[in-house]
Amino acid sequence: MPNKNKIGYRPTWAEINLKNLEHNFKTIKSRLDLKTKILVTVKADAYGHGLIPVSKRLVAQGVNFLGVASIDEGIKLRTAGIKTPILILGLILKKDILPLFTYNLIPTVCDFEFAFALNQKAAKLNKPISLHIKVDTGMGRIGVLYAGAFNLVEKIHRLKFIKIDGIFTHFPLADINRKFTVSQIKLFHKLVIDLKKRGIVIPLIHAANSAGLIDYKGSHFTMVRPGLVIYGLLPKQ
Ligand SMILES: *Cc1c(COP(=O)(O)O)cnc(C)c1O
Repeated sequence: MPNKNKIGYRPTWAEINLKNLEHNFKTIKSRLDLKTKILVTVKADAYGHGLIPVSKRLVAQGVNFLGVASIDEGIKLRTAGIKTPILILGLILKKDILPLFTYNLIPTVCDFEFAFALNQKAAKLNKPISLHIKVDTGMGRIGVLYAGAFNLVEKIHRLKFIKIDGIFTHFPLADINRKFTVSQIKLFHKLVIDLKKRGIVIPLIHAANSAGLIDYKGSHFTMVRPGLVIYGLLPKQ
């Protein structure tokens, strides 16, 4: 017999209280400056809480951005009718540029080659595209190395069909190493100021994951990027 029961044959399930999610979101929002925007990371099926129901509830509460790991997750959100800006936090291959346009998804860019390919496609479609640039201020994962960041931004800034809407960095140790995290914030801030002096003003400047949001007020810039705290977890060791 086919099993029509949503729970399936498993003896275990998780019940997600969207009211609590909403409460967490509102609490975080109420503690931020009025102008600070919020991107909630809903990657990995909203940390296992259900991508679509979680995202819809956040959208209803006025979340400014949704952050996902891959284009596939972005497409799922668009297919579910979600219109909120979506930032793809993970790396994207050059061969996968087209769906960014089709589904109106914002890529994270860390090198000129990818930005150039994006610009070419945008020119061909006559459809300008926004992107965010990720800077590695000491994480050693994804991002242009700090030393090369200024030049990269300048070069991308000159591409006609590209709009640099955001620049960001990530704190790997915000919950355990204060000195390191504070130095990351300083470096990142200096880059933003240097760019401004050169006439490059980027609207969305973001760095704070949950730990940054809670413990480092100086890391909020113009947008914060929590995941864990929205789902009710404290980012502690
Ligand atoms: C997952 C993720 C976050 C959220 O981190 P939390 O510790 O869950 O708050 C923020 N930024 C990026 C780039 C991420 O990948």
